[in-house]
Amino acid sequence: MNILVLGGGGREHALAWAIKQNPKCDRLIVAPGNAGIAQLAECAALDVLDGAAVVAFCEANAVDFVVIGPEAPLAAGIADGLAAAGILAFGPSAAAARLEASKAFTKEICDACGAPTAAYARFTQAEPAKDYIRQVGAPIVVKADGLAAGKGVIVAMTEAEALEGIDEIFGGAFGAAGAEVVIEEFMTGEEASFFVLCDGQTVLPIGSAQDHKRAYDGDTGPNTGGMGAYSPAPALTEAIAEAALAQIVRPTIAEMARRGTPFKGVLYAGLMIENGAARLVEYNVRFGDPECQVLMMRLGAQVLDLLLACAEERLAGLTVTWAEDHALSVVMATNGYPGDYARGSQIRGLEELPETSLEMVFHAGTAEREGSIIASGGRVLNVTARGTSLAEARQRAYGLVDRIDWPGGFCRRDIGWRAL
Ligand code: ATP
Repeated sequence: MNILVLGGGGREHALAWAIKQNPKCDRLIVAPGNAGIAQLAECAALDVLDGAAVVAFCEANAVDFVVIGPEAPLAAGIADGLAAAGILAFGPSAAAARLEASKAFTKEICDACGAPTAAYARFTQAEPAKDYIRQVGAPIVVKADGLAAGKGVIVAMTEAEALEGIDEIFGGAFGAAGAEVVIEEFMTGEEASFFVLCDGQTVLPIGSAQDHKRAYDGDTGPNTGGMGAYSPAPALTEAIAEAALAQIVRPTIAEMARRGTPFKGVLYAGLMIENGAARLVEYNVRFGDPECQVLMMRLGAQVLDLLLACAEERLAGLTVTWAEDHALSVVMATNGYPGDYARGSQIRGLEELPETSLEMVFHAGTAEREGSIIASGGRVLNVTARGTSLAEARQRAYGLVDRIDWPGGFCRRDIGWRAL
């Protein structure tokens, strides 16, 4: 079959890499793709937020199946447009993508289905929001309701920070995403990400991961899109995962179906685990980046079968085949990220690295210039490896990192520290 993947980051490189291994995949196109993806698939220039353009592209290229990677095209209703045109797609409708696109909506769903999460209040005006903060006190968490690329969340340790956050959000720092704020109880514990596929009814767990949000070793420095990840997450024991399925995920899926907006796609539950119990921090309606890279590494070629079954509402009775192994991914970023950074530094040594089911360098912000790979973004490479233990996966991944010659980039040296 002909498959189109939308997106162009490390997540989509990993998805394309796994899909390509499946014999059902004849032609693989990724839009827009990147320099690494170009080595295994056709890359196409296509505005992935333009529903009509995506449908026209699929029709012109006889695309049988579309896999939507990032949240923006999902929130923009690309899955709805494809469904209306009769093109099979993996990814939720815009109505179901609200589980990520609106934090207030997610809280509403949690209330309706009894899923444990932080206590909260929502406001559309600054003064009442500030009164509430003064009344409850710090620490407290202030969130812009809509999509803000991870930047709309202020975990305030002091009342002053929280009040500043209110001014920032209502001052327009996040545009329409900040028309409403959700103020939450500050939760403590260990965070883990839990991934399940849903076809509207059936829920199939496909693994757990933990990421590293801070830029520098020891979880210091500014927040980033993620500097590394590993799977599985030891904090999410089987018992906690079962409880999270029973109390959080399945009730959410049932509530979405009851409302006539069934969720189809991958649901990524960000959980806070404390004293053996999980509470929901947030939902994402797509794979995490770089969590996807470690999941794809562990799942391999079966990913295409799973995504197809999900899109075709055939998840009931399906099982996932697991190698009892671990995967770890180290993000290499351009010096200066997440602040200002220069584009265009050359990366050497990639062509000598192995590309196997145990070791892969996924590309995020890369481009090709005169036969060389250059950095074209903040997060640039996802150096990913598997092993029979997390320690082995980590050793393998850093072994690859050390063979990459890129003075213009840096990475954390402690990915996986919490679990090791
Ligand atoms: P991202 O896209 O980076 O995951 P987001 O904008 O969707 O972020 P959240 O995941 O809701 O926002 O929050 C980002 C981070 O802030 C969480 O991963 C968690 O570390 C912290 N956080 C959010 N809510 C709470 C809370 N109620 N208590 C403690 N920490 C929280």
